[in-house]
Amino acid sequence: MSNNTQNFLEKEIQDSIEARKRLFIGLIIGTSISVCLGLLLIWYIPYVGLDNIHPWAPWILGTAIALVIAFIFWASLGLVLNILLKRPVLFSQKLRGISIKFFLPLMTIMGMLLRIPKQKIRASFIKVNNELVLSENRRYPPEKVLMLMPHCLQNSLCSRRLTYNVYNCKRCGECSIAGLLDLSDEYGVHMAIATGGTIARRIVVNIRPRLIVAVACERDLSSGIQDAYPIPVYGVLNERPRGPCLDTQVAQDHVRLALDKFVQKLHVRD
Ligand code: SF4
Repeated sequence: MSNNTQNFLEKEIQDSIEARKRLFIGLIIGTSISVCLGLLLIWYIPYVGLDNIHPWAPWILGTAIALVIAFIFWASLGLVLNILLKRPVLFSQKLRGISIKFFLPLMTIMGMLLRIPKQKIRASFIKVNNELVLSENRRYPPEKVLMLMPHCLQNSLCSRRLTYNVYNCKRCGECSIAGLLDLSDEYGVHMAIATGGTIARRIVVNIRPRLIVAVACERDLSSGIQDAYPIPVYGVLNERPRGPCLDTQVAQDHVRLALDKFVQKLHVRD
């Protein structure tokens, strides 16, 4: 792929994620303010009564809550700065975990209250997760990288059984699997197909990757990212011209870009 094409693709992908990043940042700030206000309220109410138990009790509780507020402030500010600056700041290397375990559930609740569709929140989370994985700026040996693909990419008329051995594909080119297998050969990375979360977990346990490039819909990708933690997952959304779960497609150039960023260069084959 020429440098011009790569730059063009990178710009296209970058443009498409800006709107989703803004949603994520807005929800982080909204969620953090709400949690902090709630905590202040929790502090204020006992304060009225705690004074009667011990004169220091309100201040001990207040200090504990101030520490929690400081933590939330650090986490949300660090996360926003990490997204904007594309590198870890404020000792924020742990933010991917905090984002996955703490912010996503809260953001989902807040999004539901604000009537923002779950799919939009998940897509936003996936994009920000990708940025956090990219900001770690790490490369991995090819044998430690796994391309995890959903079963719905396979042509629905194809009789080849790929779940246990993706190399049963005869690469006829009728679906994306052929091109993805070519990519896995070119970069020397593992590729596997999962029909659901249980099989995906088993594949991850068997292969023990240090990085996963996963293709799926918003729901499966966001749950997969959570399941796989602490293994970093770079997510690529599938395209669904025939509706969900049937003959889906994927932008292979996006998968290639991800492999370009993460696979150690010396191992890339010509
Ligand atoms: S490329 Fe051809 S053989 Fe391979 S999964 Fe798709 S339709 Fe089947």
